[in-house]
Amino acid sequence: MSNTFITVARYQYSSEAQIIKGRLEADGIEVFIADNHTVDTDPLVSNAIGGVKLKVHAQDEVKAKEILNSIKEYSLDDEGIPLVCPNCQSTKIHYMTNVTDIKSLMSFIVSIIAGVLPLYTKYEHRCENCKYTF
Ligand SMILES: [Zn+2]
Repeated sequence: MSNTFITVARYQYSSEAQIIKGRLEADGIEVFIADNHTVDTDPLVSNAIGGVKLKVHAQDEVKAKEILNSIKEYSLDDEGIPLVCPNCQSTKIHYMTNVTDIKSLMSFIVSIIAGVLPLYTKYEHRCENCKYTF
């Protein structure tokens, strides 16, 4: 029994992590959630600290990732129809923030410290297939 933990997924909100945790536990995988209390206290810091982490024992990593892939959800529009990439017609679209590089991360942190909503942060859709964002 190894005591090594592997982060297999990150979520913006602990509620999402709890749902996935339940799904993995149904398959007999022991799941640990990290940073959920921090995020619950102030959801705005979620992006800055990398979100709520879902961790499993190292020996469960492969199985956990298989399950995560099988339940991975792609973005839907308001009517539940999968979004289609305007560039390559793929439906593998993820909804994400643009806090992906160090510059926007610093801006994000500064905004939090200043007590204002981070204006630089916006949400966007990204195609997993061709990486086109819209
Ligand atoms: Zn695309």
